[in-house]
Amino acid sequence: MSENLYDLLASRFPQDRAKPCFLLSDGGVVSYGDLEAGAARVAGRLVAEGVEPGDRVALQAEKSADGIMIYLGVLKAGAVFLPLNNAYTSAEVDYFLKDAEPRVFITDPASWVNEAMRHPPLEAAVSRTGGDLASLIYTSGTTGRSKGAMLSHGSLAANALALHEAWGFTADDVLLHALPVFHVHGLFVALHCALLSGCPLVWLPRFADAEVLAGLKQATVMMGVPTFYTRLLANPGFTRELASGLRLFICGSAPLLPSTFAEFEERTRQRILERYGMSEAVIITTNPLAGGRVAGSVGYPLPGVDLRIGGDGQTGVIEIKGPSVFSAYWRMPEKTAEEFTADGFFITGDVGRRDPDGRVWISGRAKDLIISGGYNIYPKEVELVFDELPGVTETAVVGAPHPDFGEAVVAVVMGQGDEAAMIAEARRQLAAYKTPKRVIFVDELPRNAMGKVQKNLLRERYADLFRG
Ligand code: AMP
Repeated sequence: MSENLYDLLASRFPQDRAKPCFLLSDGGVVSYGDLEAGAARVAGRLVAEGVEPGDRVALQAEKSADGIMIYLGVLKAGAVFLPLNNAYTSAEVDYFLKDAEPRVFITDPASWVNEAMRHPPLEAAVSRTGGDLASLIYTSGTTGRSKGAMLSHGSLAANALALHEAWGFTADDVLLHALPVFHVHGLFVALHCALLSGCPLVWLPRFADAEVLAGLKQATVMMGVPTFYTRLLANPGFTRELASGLRLFICGSAPLLPSTFAEFEERTRQRILERYGMSEAVIITTNPLAGGRVAGSVGYPLPGVDLRIGGDGQTGVIEIKGPSVFSAYWRMPEKTAEEFTADGFFITGDVGRRDPDGRVWISGRAKDLIISGGYNIYPKEVELVFDELPGVTETAVVGAPHPDFGEAVVAVVMGQGDEAAMIAEARRQLAAYKTPKRVIFVDELPRNAMGKVQKNLLRERYADLFRG
């Protein structure tokens, strides 16, 4: 039997295909029938254009329902979906295209789907086994090179089914979806839970206060990054009464501050359910739906996930094994080998600990990843841009706590120059979310005896930069 993820998702669509799938902010509705028909035409066009099973299809575009038709059509055709952040510059995109060698690269989903409607639909999904590649998700590399995490039909299906169960989704739910869909959170975690329930999604192109507040009136579940919750709390229109229509608020992709958790509970009398995941494994742990949701903890491993703490077993790097863990980094056998232990555990790079009952706490990141507004930024990439600017000897990029973004990017520059001009120049080469919010000029960077810059000292020094 085929284990194509498309078949699993479609098997859960509502019997009555006229039921709404996407509730659009302009009042429009895309039904499950529309989605199914669109995916079949997309798959038909891909096959007609010679796309074969295993070929990559890349999409870089604003979020839209057409984009999801493309995603599902790619799965149905047995091809591999490669979503690209729409904030990437053309230089950044070039790297992904060269590395992944997609057969098709789509940047205008509406007209691509329109054209696909002229092709005969592909009736049956192309047969796939659980181990066949479904999607390639790029994670930035600390050494500059981005790695493509290879996720199979089986791994995505296993995770989707586990989450659907763990979070109690039913056909009566309505999911508020304001997340981007080039990342596992919006594309897999949120979308798959809704599709497996055959329930509607309030489909917002991005997080905008007014639209989210309006959407919450219809929703029963919201998924977001911590920034979404701090923004809601900053808005007096987000009231206990408004929140009372929802049964569940889920948060992840970056640490949720205990103060946000507490403020949210005070405002709404509800506790945010925090979970922990990553591109390489989708969701790994979650707080329970029933029972204790604890501030600052990411809960327990999902069923089937084997989680252990490396090193001395106290606080150390989290290692995982389980059905949703990726198989390899695309065309990087050495990198893949480095990040798995001899007994097959993936070394996540996150540092954490476990309570005797198994509850997991994350205390930091082994590497220096910055997470701003839910997006990952690897300092090295930003440093390389700054190091080339006139007047700059060396740069150290760190994250500083920020009330809105969680962390904000700060460039500490050995040298001299004009802060605003440097930010503007960096912005020409980097996506907005990677561009530093502040540049600080220093005579010397703090270093250890080996000459390595001590970023922990910089983080301490600038911890209050964005605190009023
Ligand atoms: P990404 O691959 O972009 O999804 O980023 C994954 C990283 O985000 C993880 O390795 C963690 O460092 C971080 N992360 C995700 N969820 C949480 C969470 N709930 N708490 C702390 N860190 C998180």
